[in-house]
Amino acid sequence: MPEQKSADPRHRAEQLRNELNRASYQYYVLDRPTLADKEYDRMFRELQELESEHPQLQSPDSPTQRVGAEPQGQLAKHQHIRPMLSLSNAFNDDELRAWEERLVRIAGADVARSGYTTELKIDGIAVALTYHDRVLAKGATRGNGIIGEDVTINLRTVRDVPLRLAESAPGGVMEVRGEIYFPFDRFEKMNEQRARDGEALFANPRNSAAGSLRQLDPAITASRPLRFYGYSVAVPDGAALPFDTQSELLEALVSWGVPVAPTRRRCPTLADVEKWANEVEHDVRGKLNFAIDGGVVKVDSLRLQDELGVVGGREPRWAIARKFAPDIAETRLLAIEVNVGRTGALNPYAMLEPVEIGGVIVKLATLHNEDLIRVKDLRVGDWVQVKRAGDVIPQIMASIPDRRTGAEKTWQMPKRCPSCGTAATREEDEAAVYCPNIACPGRQLEGLVHFVSRGGMDVRGLSYARIQQLVEEQLVNDPGDLYALKREQLLSLEGYADKGTDAVLAAIDASRAQPLSRLLHALGIRHVGSIAAQLLAEHFGSLDSLTAATADEILAVRGIGNTIANGVVAYFSDPSGMALVEKLRGHGLNFTEPRAVASGGALSGQTAVITGTLPNLSRARATSIIESAGGKVTGSVSKSTAFLVAGDEAGSKLEKATKLGVEVIDEAELLRRTGADATSSP
Ligand code: NAD
Repeated sequence: MPEQKSADPRHRAEQLRNELNRASYQYYVLDRPTLADKEYDRMFRELQELESEHPQLQSPDSPTQRVGAEPQGQLAKHQHIRPMLSLSNAFNDDELRAWEERLVRIAGADVARSGYTTELKIDGIAVALTYHDRVLAKGATRGNGIIGEDVTINLRTVRDVPLRLAESAPGGVMEVRGEIYFPFDRFEKMNEQRARDGEALFANPRNSAAGSLRQLDPAITASRPLRFYGYSVAVPDGAALPFDTQSELLEALVSWGVPVAPTRRRCPTLADVEKWANEVEHDVRGKLNFAIDGGVVKVDSLRLQDELGVVGGREPRWAIARKFAPDIAETRLLAIEVNVGRTGALNPYAMLEPVEIGGVIVKLATLHNEDLIRVKDLRVGDWVQVKRAGDVIPQIMASIPDRRTGAEKTWQMPKRCPSCGTAATREEDEAAVYCPNIACPGRQLEGLVHFVSRGGMDVRGLSYARIQQLVEEQLVNDPGDLYALKREQLLSLEGYADKGTDAVLAAIDASRAQPLSRLLHALGIRHVGSIAAQLLAEHFGSLDSLTAATADEILAVRGIGNTIANGVVAYFSDPSGMALVEKLRGHGLNFTEPRAVASGGALSGQTAVITGTLPNLSRARATSIIESAGGKVTGSVSKSTAFLVAGDEAGSKLEKATKLGVEVIDEAELLRRTGADATSSP
C-alpha cells in the first residue's frame, strides 16, 4: 500500500523515488509490474516537477536521471556502442507545442526546414542488434542504457530479426535498434493454450515479450511467437550513415530487410504531427495486432538531431513520445452473469464498475469460459485490469490480488441454463458448458441474430433490437418464420414505416437465393463455422446430400474432423433440425452450392480423369480444382481424355492412358497448371 502523501517536498521526493524505483525493478527486471503505466507516468512527472522547483532535491540516483534499470541475473552483459535512451513524454498537443518552442529557441528556422517523422511507439522491449559486416553478431536488451543483457541466442529465434542484412547495408560495425513485441492474436492463443495446460497466464503482451526474451533457455523463447520492428541505427564514432534524415533511415532499414512498423509518416509541420497522432489514437490503434502506447515524434534531419543532443543524459532533445490515453484501466468486477449463445454455450461475462478506457465508458467484458475465470483467479469484488482494443469486446487481463480485502467471492457456473432452466451439460475436453435444449428461448434469439448476420444469410436491416422485438411479439420463433412475415405485421410494430418495411422484406426475400455454404453457416450447427460450411457445401453440392450423409462420409471431406462431422450428424438427426430444413424448403430457400466454373480457365474445354491416391488432395478437391479451372472430370479414359491425374496405386486407367497416348500428370503438375494450392478452397 502506498504511504500517505507527504506535504514536505524533500520527504515527498524521497517517497516518489522509492516508489518509482520499486516499480521500475518490478517492471524492467521482474517483468511483473505492480503499477499501471499511467500511475507511473503521473508520479514520474510529479517528481520531475518537484526536482525542477527545488534543484537542491536533485540527485544522480533519481529515476528522472536514469534509463531503465540495472541489468541483473545470469545473462552476460553487453556494452552498447552509444547509450540507448529513454524519451520524454507529451500527454497532449499543448505539450507537443511547448516541445517545439524549446527546439526553435535552440535551433531557430532549422526546425521548420527539417520537419518531423512520426512513428508508432511500440509497447514492447527495446533491443540493439549488432551487425559485423551485415551479419548478426550480438543482440542485447537496453538494460540501463549503457549496459544491457546479451540475449543473442534468444533473438536469433525471433523470425523477423534478420540474421544477415541485404548487401546494400553498410559493412563494418552497426547497431540496428528496435522493439521486440508479442502480437495480440498470438498472445491470446498462447494464453488459451496455457489455460488448457493448467499453466499460469501472462498478464499482458509487453511483460511476456520481455520475460520470453530474457530466458536462459532459447527453446522457450523460440516457442513464443515474438516479432521485431526496427526504428534506428547507431554506428561507432567517426563512421557515417548513408542518409540524412530519419525518414530515409526508416526506408533504408526496410531495404536492408529489417521490418519497420506501419503508419510512419513524414510530417513537414507540427500541425501534421497532431493530425497524425489523432488519427493513430482514434482510428489506427484499435486495428493493430500489437500494443502501442503512443507515437514517437522525431526531428527529421539527422544533422539537426546531433546538434540538439541529449537532456540530462537520459532523453534526446530531438524526439518526444506523444502518449495516448491508456487502453487498459483498473476497475472492480461487480458480478459475473451468464448469457446463452446460439449453439447453447453458456457464456459468462463480467459486469464492471463503469470505467473510461480511451474515451469510451466500459461496463461489460467477456470472460470466455469457466476455466479461464478459474485460471485467472477472478473473484466477484476483485479489482481487475481491463483492456479495450478498438471494436473488440473489452477483456479482463488479470485480477489485482494485492487489492483484495477478503470480501471477494469465488464464482461457480450455474448448473442450469439461465434462460430455460434445463440442466446444463459439459462434454469432455470442451471448455464450454451447454444448454442442450434446442427450443431454449435464449438460444433462439441468438440463433436468429446469427442467421441474419453478415457472415450468415446477410439480411440487412434486421438489427439485434428488431430481432428481439419480433421474438417478443411472437412473430418469429425460428429462421423459417422470417420468410412468412407479412407487410402488415411489420407495419403494426413500433419503428417500422412504409419504406423501411419494404426494404426489410426485400432483404429477407433476396436471402432465399444465398448459396448453401451461407445457409449452412447461418443454421448455427455446433462447430460449423464459415470455412467448414464452405468445405461441406462444395463437397456435397446440396443440402439433401449432406443431410443423407453418414459421419464417415462427412469425415472424408478434407479439412473436416470428428468434432465437426459429429456436430453435423447430431444436428440433422435431431427432429427439430430436420423440421427446420423442411420449413425452409417450403419457403423456397436455395439448398445448393453453385459450382464455380471458370470460362476461359486454364483447363477450359478439357476432360480429365483422376486415378490412384493423390498425396494431398482428396478426389473431391481435385475434381473441384479441375472444374474451377473450366475442365470436366469423367470416370474412364478414352481418346478424348486430355490428361490423367495419377496418384499412388494407379491401376488399369494408367495402363489404358499409356496405351492411348493420353498425357499422364501428377498432383503437383495439376496444381501448377491451375494455380490452385493443396490446402485452401478454390
Ligand atoms: P519510454 O517507453 O517512455 O520510451 C523509450 C522507449 O520507447 C525506447 O527505449 C524504445 O524501447 C521505445 N520505442 C518504441 N517505439 C519506438 C520508436 N518508434 N522510436 C523510438 N523508441 C521507441 O521509456 P522507458 O524509459 O522505457 O519507460 C518509461 C515508461 O515505461 C513509462 O512511461 C511507463 O509508462 C513505463 N513504466 C512503467 C512502470 C510500471 O510500473 N508500470 C515502471 C517503469 C516504467
